[in-house]
Amino acid sequence: MSERAVAVKPKEDPWEMALKQYNRVADVLNLKRGIREFLAYPRRELTVNFPVKMDDGSVHVFTGHRVHHSTVLGPTKGGIRYHPDVTLNEVRALAMWMSWKCSVVGLPYGGAKGGVVCDHKKLSMAEMERLTRRYTTEITPILSAEGDIPAPDVGTTPQVMAWIMDTYSMHKGYSVPAVVTGKPINIGGSYGRVEATGRGCMITAREACKHLDLNLNGATVAVQGYGNVGSIAAYLLHDLGAKVIAVSDTSGGIYNPKGLDPRAVLRHKDQTKSVKGFPGTEAVTNEELLEIPCDILVPSALEGQINGDNAGRLKTRLIVEGANGPTSPEADEILRERGIMVLPDILANAGGVIVSYFEWVQGLQQFFWTEEDVNRNLEAIMVRSFNQVMAVAQERKADMRTAAYIRAVSRVADALMTRGIYP
Ligand code: NAD
Repeated sequence: MSERAVAVKPKEDPWEMALKQYNRVADVLNLKRGIREFLAYPRRELTVNFPVKMDDGSVHVFTGHRVHHSTVLGPTKGGIRYHPDVTLNEVRALAMWMSWKCSVVGLPYGGAKGGVVCDHKKLSMAEMERLTRRYTTEITPILSAEGDIPAPDVGTTPQVMAWIMDTYSMHKGYSVPAVVTGKPINIGGSYGRVEATGRGCMITAREACKHLDLNLNGATVAVQGYGNVGSIAAYLLHDLGAKVIAVSDTSGGIYNPKGLDPRAVLRHKDQTKSVKGFPGTEAVTNEELLEIPCDILVPSALEGQINGDNAGRLKTRLIVEGANGPTSPEADEILRERGIMVLPDILANAGGVIVSYFEWVQGLQQFFWTEEDVNRNLEAIMVRSFNQVMAVAQERKADMRTAAYIRAVSRVADALMTRGIYP
């Protein structure tokens, strides 16, 4: 069976999911019609079809998108995804989620997202570089250090960010490090950026455990998606004493109820390209992994993995959304009724954009911070944001996603009313 055939397919269109989540909170907040409508639309969308010379001399045409959802709070910020399943609706949803994420943690940004439909695993480094440089050139009209700042997402790496920075700078005629974040350290990247999203997941999980009266020391953890976010969340939770019992990637999952060494699994994945076959583990599918009894479940792969079909069978106390949009609105209802706490993506995985913001500030100022400075400031923002969302949840007797959306959407709506409608 192929890798893709094993992967769990998302059940619901991500844009429909994002709109449902937004409309639910727009109702709660009783947003005025015009404001509600304005925030429901992406501000601008660009689709590009562009040729790339492949290593065998052939020319292949790729499709890419860049969507800006909202510019109300400041420049737009959001990652670029390279994946065969990228669609304009997925990019729209991810852009809207970025707006709420930046808002809920208090950053001066609106949301954006980009994507190229491609199987990055089948591209050579040289093809990836040519694809990245051409895509960057195509979307340059709507990129800038002051206006729209990309970052890594699924299938893109610090090296890809370096090519984006270099391509943009070549067109300008001078270096513009602040046009993209998630860069390698030697060209203006920030210490702590690679670990930031996983670190943020760990911090929010730790804070939530205090409210659930769940002792993190010895708590069992299952992680779907063992990439940047999932693997780092796994080893940082392990460092706090949690027992990581199952992890997975596109090729399937591994399970050991006695616990795994997450760093050893990462070394195994680096060597063999998959977590499969890690010694002393039982193979499980991605569907099975989600249903393994555990205290904390960290979905860190793609959208729609927890849906109406499987939400009733999850055996966990806390879900920490490392991925964007892993839980469908239907599943949310079921989890709410079952009393399972969900730390929503816009809060739980905001560590990445927070440290991207630090990287952008460092790039604009050309004044660089130590890793301790980065992690201390990240910790402060994550804990403050968690507590603010928890306070809304307690006050309104709402779940954490509703509370996070209430804070996020009302901050953007308030700013919009203060700015007014031009002209
Ligand atoms: P990545 O490419 O480093 O890792 C993704 C992992 O998920 C890989 O191990 C891949 O094999 C696995 N995967 C893909 N499809 C799967 C499936 N159907 N079932 C199980 N595993 C699957 O990407 P990443 O940067 O870790 O991003 C993961 C998620 O986190 C995405 O939803 C992304 O939007 C979100 N996110 C990433 C960041 C960041 O800073 N990297 C920040 C916020 C949110």
